[in-house]
Order: sequence, then structure tokens, then C-alpha cells
Amino acid sequence: MKAIVLLGVPGAGKGTVAAFVERHTAYRHISTGDMFREVMREGSPLGRKVASYIDVGQLVPDDMVLNVVHRRLQRESGKMDCMFDGFPRTECQAELLDELLSREYGTAIEQVFYLELDEDLVVRRLTGRLTCEACGAVYHREHKKTLVEGVCDQCGAAVSQRDDDTRETIQARLKVFDKQTHGLIAYYEARKKLCRVDASGTPEAVAQAVLEELKRTNG
Ligand code: AMP
Repeated sequence: MKAIVLLGVPGAGKGTVAAFVERHTAYRHISTGDMFREVMREGSPLGRKVASYIDVGQLVPDDMVLNVVHRRLQRESGKMDCMFDGFPRTECQAELLDELLSREYGTAIEQVFYLELDEDLVVRRLTGRLTCEACGAVYHREHKKTLVEGVCDQCGAAVSQRDDDTRETIQARLKVFDKQTHGLIAYYEARKKLCRVDASGTPEAVAQAVLEELKRTNG
């Protein structure tokens, strides 16, 4: 089992890059944000607890995050190559992930792609972002419209603005990134795993850059 990480501020394009890399490699996309949104849709007590953090732009507690990731990996019996998106988000999560991969699967994170993007671009991207409610495909009100307004090109379900993509929540999420996630850059740099990618280009160009780097290092 191989494992890579996509790291970056909200709106850096992690989900779009992941979808592209997934189409061209054996890495499977594991997004903790997507998993939590699925749990919230079920409307269970756990879903309501998760929503109480996500709706205000705060991080879900580390133990709950590790729990969903662990369960997901167990479901696949550790046989797939994983591309984590939006996880880890704290140094504690990174340490727990290192421990889990080594203990259960005898492996380690290969590479971490840090998608770098200025804050003002982030706000512009996220306030216009539309997400498919069923498959998670990502669109933009101006730069990447759906063929039929409000309908996902890929699966036909409704697309809408995520509840946490409002200006106020975006600011909260950016602050959370600075305070709780930014330290991971140094964490992975120290372990010689970090690869910086300029995320200001088109989603296709950014995804292509990640893919090329991945192929270069994987041979
Ligand atoms: P994302 O789709 O990755 O932007 O995640 C949406 C929201 O889910 C975040 O703002 C957090 O509230 C929560 N979340 C996703 N992944 C994590 C994580 N690894 N740790 C804590 N909270 C997370």
C-alpha cells in the first residue's frame, strides 16, 4: 500500500487534483471532508455532532477523524494506494497517521504535495464554488459552469454552494489553517516529504504538475 497527501488551504484545488490523479493512477481519493458530509447527510447524532464543527469552519476533533480514516482503510483491507485530501490537518493527526500506517500496513507517507495559493484567490474561488450534492464534483459559477444550470455534468444530481463556503465561514477556515494546519508544512519538510506546487494556475495545469512529479518520483 502506498500513501500520498494533498495539503493546502481550503480552495487550493485539492479535490480537483485528486479526481484527476485518481483517473490516471492507482491512487484512490480519500477525502475526510467528503466522508463527513456523507455522515451529515445521514442525519444521525454523529452527523449532527460533525455538523456542529463544520458549519462554523472549525476542525472536527482528531479522534473522530482518525476513526473514520481507520474504518475506511480497514474496509479496503489496506490493499489500495491512498491519496489523502484534507487529512491530516493537525500535527497530532499526522503523527497518528504515521503510526497507523506503520503499525497496520507496514508503510509510510511517500510524498506530500503542498498546493500553494494566495488568500485573496482562495476567497474568490470558494465564494463561487458549486459542489455536486451526490458525487462531490466541483464547479465554479464563472470559470467552470455546468452544462445545464444547477445540474452535475457527471451524475445529473443537483449542484449547490456548500454551507461552509460562505464568506464568513471561509475566513474562519483560513484562520484555522494558519493556526492548526500550517505547521504540517514544516513537519513534512523536516521529513523530506514535501513537494511545493503553485496552485494559482488552472485546475488542469495544477493537476498535471502533481501527476508529473508523482510519475517522476515513482519512476
Ligand atoms: P474539506 O472538504 O476538506 O474542506 O473539509 C470540510 C470540513 O470538514 C473542514 O472545514 C473541517 O471542519 C472538516 N474536516 C475535514 N477533514 C478534516 C480533518 N482532517 N480534521 C478535522 N476536520 C476536518
